Amino acid sequence: MPPESILIEASQLSLSYGALKVLDQVSLKVRKQAIVTVVGPNGAGKTTLLKVLLGLIEPDAGHVTRSPLLRIGYVPQKLEIPTTLPLTVKRFLQLAYDRSTVAASSNVIEAALDQVGAPKVLDTPLQGLSGGELQRVLLARALLRQPELLVLDEPVRGVDLTGQADLYDLIAQLRDQLGLGVLLVSHDLHLVMQATDEVLCLNGHVCCHGHPEAVSRHPEFVALFGPRIAETMALYPHHHDHTHR
Ligand code: ADP
Repeated sequence: MPPESILIEASQLSLSYGALKVLDQVSLKVRKQAIVTVVGPNGAGKTTLLKVLLGLIEPDAGHVTRSPLLRIGYVPQKLEIPTTLPLTVKRFLQLAYDRSTVAASSNVIEAALDQVGAPKVLDTPLQGLSGGELQRVLLARALLRQPELLVLDEPVRGVDLTGQADLYDLIAQLRDQLGLGVLLVSHDLHLVMQATDEVLCLNGHVCCHGHPEAVSRHPEFVALFGPRIAETMALYPHHHDHTHR
């Protein structure tokens, strides 16, 4: 059983697909009210790591411990919606809320959309949403589960740059308001660092981890992402004007 402040902890996870070693002794912890970001190039094993943490695939070695009855809200990287399926946001969110086989009431759905800053899309068909709106709706769906831990896989894909920054701000706000732990996958540390307490740089193994500024200067991080990213990040130092934990 992990200590009370730890929501989820992975110890020494290893996993191969055939001859391809995708995770090599990866360990990570997410505490209450902390935002942990996993960065790494394509193919680094980020999505595989999330799947192991969510219990969707078994590692070859290592283990995952979760706090008792941990509720996880998951925001997937993308959602394939058939263009011919007539589904409004409201109906989609009603369908998603199935834990007690009771559809969420309109009030609850409207409150969740308000919380993610998308109050006007209730009756919009899913196909009519912009990239940023769709991500907010997926976030609202995750919040309907009343999670203690929010897990997001590249939440800003398909969203323009301003929208990306707004979305990360929103995630940080939700952490503050709801006291959530957040685990987030990104390939862009520069954008997420304002909102991140801890970064884990993954490339099969954990190259480095810690505070974003320290990670951005780590030789393995610089080797993976190039010196320009490290320099850009130095222009955007990460300062907390508030406390958590
Ligand atoms: P990332 O999310 O960092 O881009 P992934 O975890 O998706 O990385 O993938 C890591 C590696 O594992 C990639 O080389 C990918 O092609 C491979 N891979 C992912 N899923 C499978 C699978 N189900 N079967 C075989 N190889 C896979």
